[in-house]
Amino acid sequence: MRSNPLNKLLNKPPSVCVSHDEILDMPEPDYVVLPMDYTQRELYSWKVAIGDKVRQNQIIAKNSMGVCLHTPISGTVFDIKPIWSEGGIHIPAVCITRGEGDAVSVDEIFEQYGVNPKEATVDDQLKAMGIHPPWLPLSTSAVSEEHTPEAIENVVIVGFDEEPEINIQYNLLAQRLNDVLEGFSFLKTIMPNATQVLLADRNFCKQIKDQVPGEIQLKSISPNYSARLLDRNIPKYANIRFDHHRDYALQKTVVISIERLLVLTAAIKNSQPFTTKYLTVSNKMPSDHKMVLIHHGTSIRSILNFTEFSKYQPESIIAGGPMKGISQFNNLTPLTRSCDGLHLLGEKEITSGPGDHCTNCAACIRICPLNLQVHLIGRYVEFENFTSANEYHPEQCMECGLCSYVCPAQRPLVQFIKLANQYGNQKNEHKPQTQCSIESPLEEWDQHCSSSAAMADSPAASH
Ligand code: SF4
Ligand code: SF4
Repeated sequence: MRSNPLNKLLNKPPSVCVSHDEILDMPEPDYVVLPMDYTQRELYSWKVAIGDKVRQNQIIAKNSMGVCLHTPISGTVFDIKPIWSEGGIHIPAVCITRGEGDAVSVDEIFEQYGVNPKEATVDDQLKAMGIHPPWLPLSTSAVSEEHTPEAIENVVIVGFDEEPEINIQYNLLAQRLNDVLEGFSFLKTIMPNATQVLLADRNFCKQIKDQVPGEIQLKSISPNYSARLLDRNIPKYANIRFDHHRDYALQKTVVISIERLLVLTAAIKNSQPFTTKYLTVSNKMPSDHKMVLIHHGTSIRSILNFTEFSKYQPESIIAGGPMKGISQFNNLTPLTRSCDGLHLLGEKEITSGPGDHCTNCAACIRICPLNLQVHLIGRYVEFENFTSANEYHPEQCMECGLCSYVCPAQRPLVQFIKLANQYGNQKNEHKPQTQCSIESPLEEWDQHCSSSAAMADSPAASH
């Protein structure tokens, strides 16, 4: 029988921090870089100009749905230029150097958003605090009057992490179960007609089952990676069909992680803007894990220095975990709300392949749970023939990452599929920038902002 190289990783239980208390709180960085796009579907328009002074929590951008983006630090807008994001997309970003200034008040946030706080609806409160209301589809054109919280029939809270080396949801659930249960009650008041389901790791379910109220359906998830894929579990437990664009809201279903539930509750209860993110930093050899709370827009290099993972001198840094993550061009790439982890690979863990070209070995199509012609899609996208690539239904891909993992040529197959989906429509005027020929300003920003912060922090500067 053919040995499966994935068995070791796929059957590995999720890694767990040694101590549940071990969540590191990273101080404000010298500067932040805030990309104006998340998930390629939430383009933001920035409301600041180079040289503007900004205060912590001030709204600096809004998307077409009215969802706001705040600066996590006070300071000065140093520059606005396109960068390569953690998701491999070339997008404009605002660079802010840390400086003096108090945080803006809640009233000021609502004033910037454009509503009286006493008249703000739940939708307004969430958008003003930087959260896309989870009952609205992400595709703006699809929103209609039917998309109200009262129409939602299922709420699925994800209490585990799909990726083998990431453990954010598990740890937050373990450490803040009372806050999570309060969040459930709160969601019930907003979405009174919805069935609530909590998905959690199999072993952990046994520990919490007596504490979870009977009206919440607790479902245990196997440690096997394929069995953990959300796009398999959500249709099963919400009794809906698989949605390749994850717009489950179109099927009256809300899917949110434990972390997002806590952020959402804090936004409504305490008017707390969404400016921080938990992530797991992991190394395989030697094995090491840390969980850290960062400000949005903090560079990978600062995070590795703070968590002391820079000592491993990684050969490759993967943002998002080993299965679905994306290798980074640069360790100055900023991390934001959509990145759950950094996974580091050493020189010995990167096996050499025959290069960049597909050898037609068919490993990718044998492993694909949806039987997609992955290698063909990849080859068409490589030569920018998006029309042909789309004949092989890349939209069905659940982005599990298995094909990339087994490809001996180490081809970026999931990225090819994402590009096929993004640019498959010939009418799309925004052509992809698959060539990394545009110089990144990140190095220049890092040199300027780090030295400015050092000057500002020096005793001489305070006189
Ligand atoms: S990521 Fe690869 S293996 Fe997974 S569903 Fe998509 S094409 Fe198939
Ligand atoms: S696994 Fe890689 S090399 Fe093999 S057919 Fe698929 S894309 Fe080509």
